[in-house]
Amino acid sequence: MLVSATEMLNKAKAGHYAVGQFNINNLEWTKAILQTAQELNSPVILGVSEGAGKYMCGYQTVVGMVNGMLKELNITVPVALHLDHGSYEHCYKCLEAGFSSIMFDGSHYPIEENVEKTKELVKAAHDKGVSIEAEVGAIGGEEDGVIGMGECADPEECKKIADLGVDFLAAGIGNIHGKYPANWKGLSFETLDAVQQKTGDLPLVLHGGTGIPADMIKKAISLGVAKINVNTECQLSFAAATRKYVEEGKDQQGKGYDPRKLLAPGFEAIKATVKEKMELFGSVGKA
Ligand SMILES: [Zn+2]
Repeated sequence: MLVSATEMLNKAKAGHYAVGQFNINNLEWTKAILQTAQELNSPVILGVSEGAGKYMCGYQTVVGMVNGMLKELNITVPVALHLDHGSYEHCYKCLEAGFSSIMFDGSHYPIEENVEKTKELVKAAHDKGVSIEAEVGAIGGEEDGVIGMGECADPEECKKIADLGVDFLAAGIGNIHGKYPANWKGLSFETLDAVQQKTGDLPLVLHGGTGIPADMIKKAISLGVAKINVNTECQLSFAAATRKYVEEGKDQQGKGYDPRKLLAPGFEAIKATVKEKMELFGSVGKA
């Protein structure tokens, strides 16, 4: 059964580790992440962007697939199904479809409007036992066509949004979605520290986990980050493993063209990436 992400993230914050949010794109992705979480006895959050939700034929399809897998694979670790960077309308769609967690990305609204909409969605989510994440300060890079520059959140604005009752908060601290450019300046730990001082026990979220050096990840966790989003890294490892299979001509040997064979190396590559991240984040054995 899906659970909200609140309890697992409160435990993570208190225990000084982080739970990974791994975004899903299809059945192979979902199965790879769930199996790895179960094998490592780790809580996990499955992230679904609006684009990926559309690609997978809508939120109802996603909920059906994930719930089916939890049963068929005997998954007993805590699993949350979370809308990533949701718009106001899509937050409601996911609440209706049976997601157990949502993110309302109101970072592009003026702060007053972000506050109004967040307040309303907090109530709608909590009425259904669903957890909700909000964002302050745009996170850099590109996600579903939205491009930000990696700004740092204003700690006062973070406090304002935190006080609305959100369960965890994404604050921009110089992090970027996708691959990091060579001239990236790194995370702003001063901002993170200032945000945590204003928001107390509230679990903080780090988006754009791909390519942030391990020591920065560990420092971010020590400063209150309890959820780290990973998306691009699984895509890169899946693509590399699939390319290798094809370049070695394996799809042309025997029944190597069978999708169950063709997609197997990519599936294993996702599992390896998820394992590496769960070990780095410290969530192994914390289910
Ligand atoms: Zn993000």
